[in-house]
Amino acid sequence: MSLSGKTALVTGGSRGIGKAISKALAQAGANIIINYTSNKEAADKVVEEIEELGVKGLAVKANVADSNDVKGMMEEIEGHFDGVDILVNNAGITRDNLFMRMKDEEWQQVMDVNLNGIFFCTKAVIRRMMKQKYGKIINMSSVVGVMGNAGQANYCASKAGVIGLTKSLAKELAVKGINVNAIAPGFIDTDMTSVLTDNIKEELLSHIPLKRYGKPEDIANLVVFLSSENANYITGQVIHVDGGMAM
Ligand code: NAP
Repeated sequence: MSLSGKTALVTGGSRGIGKAISKALAQAGANIIINYTSNKEAADKVVEEIEELGVKGLAVKANVADSNDVKGMMEEIEGHFDGVDILVNNAGITRDNLFMRMKDEEWQQVMDVNLNGIFFCTKAVIRRMMKQKYGKIINMSSVVGVMGNAGQANYCASKAGVIGLTKSLAKELAVKGINVNAIAPGFIDTDMTSVLTDNIKEELLSHIPLKRYGKPEDIANLVVFLSSENANYITGQVIHVDGGMAM
């Protein structure tokens, strides 16, 4: 599954799942742009690790929820690369609260990053992909976007939105040789889930048939496959990587 000569943009590529994706795509030979929003040190470290693999890396700070930031990011990318062949819309946040207590800002922030961010980043790369009649877009949804989850109405709505967006885009872009798919991770061991209490983690584990939490690499392996020519006949799909949690 060689991705040699391809360039991938991984939003939220500096930590957690995005970091594992960046490294796995680099191992497959792609040049990687690591987008981040606050932690420059973490992003620079991933670039270092990627360049040790013999490909080009670039860290770009941009808030994906801000269309001007995303435009600026594309200008910076165009100064270093011909364009983006693989877009992994991975950046995401949680602002959990019971619906009755959920503040307007908690709802809005999650929608802005998790859903609007994908709209802005996809718009920014799509023209070139259409022109070259080639592109791979992989959007990060979640099992809870399919199942729902108490205390996460904002997050679940955003991740369900990602699925609708993915399927619509897949239908629009198939004729242009662009594959658009979504991944629905289950419980993956990252900073995002480290804030959960031991009780909640135990409860979650009891619903996972494979009896372990996922690793970021479990998601990254699928992203490499979906980015490769081996997945050319797969589009508009939501692929669960969740140890059997949602079935
Ligand atoms: P994480 O460990 O919290 O890392 C989040 C990454 O996103 C960081 O690189 C962060 O950069 C970046 N980011 C956050 N807000 C951003 C913004 N506005 N603009 C650009 N970058 C931004 O999260 P994760 O667990 O790896 O999750 C990655 C994706 O998988 C998310 O979409 C998440 O919803 C989804 N997911 C995760 C799980 C799970 O169990 N972990 C399950 C299902 C789905 P900075 O460090 O610079 O802020």
